[in-house]
Amino acid sequence: MRIARVETFLVPPRWLFLRIETDDGLVGWGEPVVEGRAATVAAAVRELEPQLVGADPRRIEDLWQQLTRSGFYRGGPVFSSAIAGIDQALWDLAGKRLGVPVHELLGGAVRDRVRVYGWVAGDDPANVRDGVAARLAQGLTAVKMNASGPLTAIDSPAAVRGVVERAAAAREALGDDADFALDFHGRFSPAMARRTLPLLEPLLPLFVEEPVVPELAASALPAVTAATSIPIAAGERAYSRWDFAALFAAGIAVAQPDVSHAGGISETRRIAAQAETVGASLAPHCPLGPIALAACVQVDLASTNFLIQEQSRGIHYNSQWDVLDYLADTSVFDLVDGGIPRLEGPGLGIEVDEQAVRAAAERGHDWHAPIWRHVDGSLAEW
Ligand SMILES: [Mg+2]
Repeated sequence: MRIARVETFLVPPRWLFLRIETDDGLVGWGEPVVEGRAATVAAAVRELEPQLVGADPRRIEDLWQQLTRSGFYRGGPVFSSAIAGIDQALWDLAGKRLGVPVHELLGGAVRDRVRVYGWVAGDDPANVRDGVAARLAQGLTAVKMNASGPLTAIDSPAAVRGVVERAAAAREALGDDADFALDFHGRFSPAMARRTLPLLEPLLPLFVEEPVVPELAASALPAVTAATSIPIAAGERAYSRWDFAALFAAGIAVAQPDVSHAGGISETRRIAAQAETVGASLAPHCPLGPIALAACVQVDLASTNFLIQEQSRGIHYNSQWDVLDYLADTSVFDLVDGGIPRLEGPGLGIEVDEQAVRAAAERGHDWHAPIWRHVDGSLAEW
């Protein structure tokens, strides 16, 4: 059995899908993408293709090692995401060949369903209340939101209190039996994080994500995590277990590897085990498409320290296109008690609608992250 063909598909709203076909007609799918750099990752996949065609797809770990290390230059979002999508497709093929879901190959399910959260646009407290109500009506028991606009290095009392008001609106709408998490996208300076996070403590957020940019993991994040009782989450911009070592040393409580950025199912599974060694939980990042989500769910089902899964149904970035658009059977992601039930189909456990993918790829996309500026014209973190 050999890999015969590797194809990528740039599809709306901002995704890149990968299809690997073997010489005996099996097809595996992956999602190698960096949001806003999809075409760059597609080029990286094309450069790796000669190493894949003719290779034995069953040697997942050997291919992971070769693709990761043989180029000499390694790591970072582009290379690691290209390999992540390839790794997902190889696991999909492995499960399909054996007729079992991937989580069975990872040691079997340790839970029956995977709790998920939905996004709420956090622009003002009134939107927060409506957004939370809509998510609860969908059957979710947890939400996440950005609780600020651009923040300066030491922002005004109004900006600080605005964050607290949005979080308070979420807690009020949710009550005490449901959860909210706050994602700051690195918009706080360390000083702003230390000032603001203690004010949020009485509201008991599930976690606060990326209070500061990942570049500060070693220098400033340890003081931020030490300054608050709120569990700190990070990791969507960490691409390997080596990157995560710095985050764990900084005291994060929740590891958020993205299965499409951090070396795929193989490396995410290793990061989950690494998190166990410091008592941290796993909450994979996934504002992506259905293939990435299925890959996450497979890891979550088999990982004992799993906490909660991100998913992008109805996320404010995507109008018109949604996670379910590229699936032949969308019922696999129907929620039960706030979670996705065990995926039982072979491989990743989803059936990609290949016709829909090929048709959407004709249209493609040109999505880029927004560019934010402060009132004085200087660049702000988005
Ligand atoms: Mg995030």
